[in-house]
Amino acid sequence: MPTIGRLAPSPTGAQHLGNARTYLLAWLAARSQGGTLRLRVEDIDTPRNKPDAVAQLFDDFARLGFDFDGPPVVQSANLDAHVAALEALKRRELVYPCTCTRSDIASAAAAPHAEHEGPAYPGTCAGRSASDAVTLDRPYAWRFRVTHSPTFDDGFRGPTAIDLTQAGGDFVVWRSYHAPAYQLAVVVDDAAMGVTDVLRGDDLVPSTPRQLLLYEALKLPAPAFTHVPLVVGTDGRRLAKRHGDTRLQTYWQRGVRPEAVLGTLAWSCGWLAKPEPITARELLPLFTLSTVPRAPWVADESHFRGG
Ligand code: GLU
Repeated sequence: MPTIGRLAPSPTGAQHLGNARTYLLAWLAARSQGGTLRLRVEDIDTPRNKPDAVAQLFDDFARLGFDFDGPPVVQSANLDAHVAALEALKRRELVYPCTCTRSDIASAAAAPHAEHEGPAYPGTCAGRSASDAVTLDRPYAWRFRVTHSPTFDDGFRGPTAIDLTQAGGDFVVWRSYHAPAYQLAVVVDDAAMGVTDVLRGDDLVPSTPRQLLLYEALKLPAPAFTHVPLVVGTDGRRLAKRHGDTRLQTYWQRGVRPEAVLGTLAWSCGWLAKPEPITARELLPLFTLSTVPRAPWVADESHFRGG
């Protein structure tokens, strides 16, 4: 069956070396099998969107040689479908209105990358039914009732089981009027785009059983999931500004060639014996997940200078 993959960047900041490695893996995984690849801009985290980020990520992808099928999908344009999904969940009492003013309600727009997974929700509002929402005089979010924790066979990690009652508990699917949360939006949009294969960073592993619950609840076919190790700094933490400047735009400004960045990434994935310039297309016949190290890739000073 022809595969449909996707890249789903959020325009909340500049793309850096870590994002590039995951996107390279996702692009190669789809293209090396002759699959379709779509681009979706996940722009629902409105306060955190950066004005130039969309133009920059298109520029980064063009320079790296990542091409896509069809026009980019803009997540905020799919609001009607997100609303319809929420209504379906309400009708079936699979969600309840939650007035807890916890920061996870505010942060639910964004994918919960490492360090952002909070403690399990204690179920404070779980006694409410969907119809109780009209009686509330305070803002409320909608939480999904976690009844079980679907396991899955990860394309990189193999069989994966996460107990959601420990990891997060009932989770937010809607923040307030017109504000879907990441978990719901990503499922509705991946299904609408016919995505069959999701490849993303392994800090999103705990999101996958939640998304599988939503696929079940909405009676939508779930894609296959592959989670790849992240790029970390020498302190072992997810690559970020604190480690130095690995923004792709900074490399381009300094005259670093995209082929050099790709060569470093390809070497980190075990496809080249040493980092040497190469194009994304030239990597197609070399692509395999079997040589990608299980451990996160540690970016050091040399990578901050030139990919
Ligand atoms: N927009 C999300 C992010 O930037 C993508 C999450 C996903 O791939 O499901 O992290």
